[in-house]
Amino acid sequence: MSMSTNKETHIHWFGNDLRMVDQPFARITNGIQQLIGLYVIDPKRIAFNQWGFRNMSLQRLQVLREHLIDLERDLADQGIPLMVRWGDPRDIVPRETQKRNASLSFMKEYATHERNAQSQVLDQLDPAYVFQYDGNFLLQPDDCSWDDSFPASFSRFRKKAEKILKHQTYILEEPLKRRNKIIEPLLKESQRELHEHSAIPFPGGTNAGIDRLNAYLFQSKRASTYKKTRNGLLGKDYSTKFSFWLAVGALSPLMIMKELKKYEEKEGSNKSTYWIFFELLWRDFFRHAGKYYKDDFFAKNGLQKSSWGYHESKIAFDEWVNGNTLNDFVNANMVELKETGFMSNRGRQNAASFLVHDQQEDWRKGAAWFEHCLLDYDVYSNHGNWQYVTGVSFNPRGGSQFNVEAQADRYDSDRRFRQTWLKN
Ligand SMILES: Cc1cc2nc3c(=O)[nH]c(=O)nc-3n(C[C@H](O)[C@H](O)[C@H](O)COP(=O)(O)OP(=O)(O)OC[C@H]3O[C@@H](n4cnc5c(N)ncnc54)[C@H](O)[C@@H]3O)c2cc1C
Repeated sequence: MSMSTNKETHIHWFGNDLRMVDQPFARITNGIQQLIGLYVIDPKRIAFNQWGFRNMSLQRLQVLREHLIDLERDLADQGIPLMVRWGDPRDIVPRETQKRNASLSFMKEYATHERNAQSQVLDQLDPAYVFQYDGNFLLQPDDCSWDDSFPASFSRFRKKAEKILKHQTYILEEPLKRRNKIIEPLLKESQRELHEHSAIPFPGGTNAGIDRLNAYLFQSKRASTYKKTRNGLLGKDYSTKFSFWLAVGALSPLMIMKELKKYEEKEGSNKSTYWIFFELLWRDFFRHAGKYYKDDFFAKNGLQKSSWGYHESKIAFDEWVNGNTLNDFVNANMVELKETGFMSNRGRQNAASFLVHDQQEDWRKGAAWFEHCLLDYDVYSNHGNWQYVTGVSFNPRGGSQFNVEAQADRYDSDRRFRQTWLKN
């Protein structure tokens, strides 16, 4: 990406990079007269999918609104307006850019619909004034080349990534501090009601994300015990919950790593602090895979191209969605998901395994329900993990089938989690 524009006006088309820190476009727009932010909500994102439910829940939409209000305030502090438009980005983005004779920047997406929309926007504009780049990675795509073969497993990817990132200093061009103080009213503005047992009782937006970083790291020092608590099921502190902000780019992996390194210098590094990095690499693995495989990443039979059998049962699927299966641990997790928009990693592994292995349903249907509900929905992590559990991609063992009864005994031995979410 060449790093300058001589246009007087520049538009940054925001996508899943809803933040002002760690933004590559800042380098392009140095000295520009007018910078404008643009966010387009494509109606397709809340349309009904092939299985009869919406791609996005109302709760997800409310959280998106919080992220956007917070971004709008951060931008306003710097005199930058944010235009939020409803409609097809293929019409809106070129129109707004041409109307102002502006240059344009955006972060690349790799999933089919978003990638096609971006390329059709590009087709309508002068490419000399469009700046598109890879973003939200830990391992920068420029620092690694997969040539013709992407690492076949996470462990191969991790080894390579760790080698490259070993001496990485995670530098941000500006200090990471909260810009505006008005966070609590966000929930009021979005009209979102927090469930009393929500594991993610946070408002959206970078400012709340920075608060969470501080709380999880420096204030409570939870990062030093992460590896012991990460399989927890109840409460906000058994894991970082950074995914809530990472999903829309309100926090970037670089912002997290910078703070994690600072924390390690202050409090010491241990297995737990390393494990947060390790888990962030899982996220990076799926993001890189999405970039590398593009449409193949979303194929029904995954990357192995081996067909796998499933039978469609609307009744069984509805039972799973509503937490009415014969397994109370799965049920509790599914109720939590529906009511709060979150489920722990332990819950996700079990709920997914139950649907695809015990009920032998189509993994894409499960992934679509997670997409509908999850406030941290991320296309790469979601599809990658579903394929991994199913065994159609990335999994050297060819699938992960959990014994959900045994998992419940192990991780919810006192039944507190099940009692919290199941009424009887
Ligand atoms: C079927 C299934 C679907 C999933 N869908 C999503 C999704 O849509 N969005 C999403 O962000 N994660 C998804 N995950 C991964 C994981 O469950 C969540 O990232 C995690 O539970 C979020 O909570 P946390 O931020 O407290 O995680 P922590 O345990 O604190 O981990 C720190 C960070 O590491 C990353 N991470 C941790 N585990 C994974 C993993 N297995 N794969 C990829 N990244 C990981 C996340 O960015 C997370 O924020 C899914 C997992 C499964 C099994």
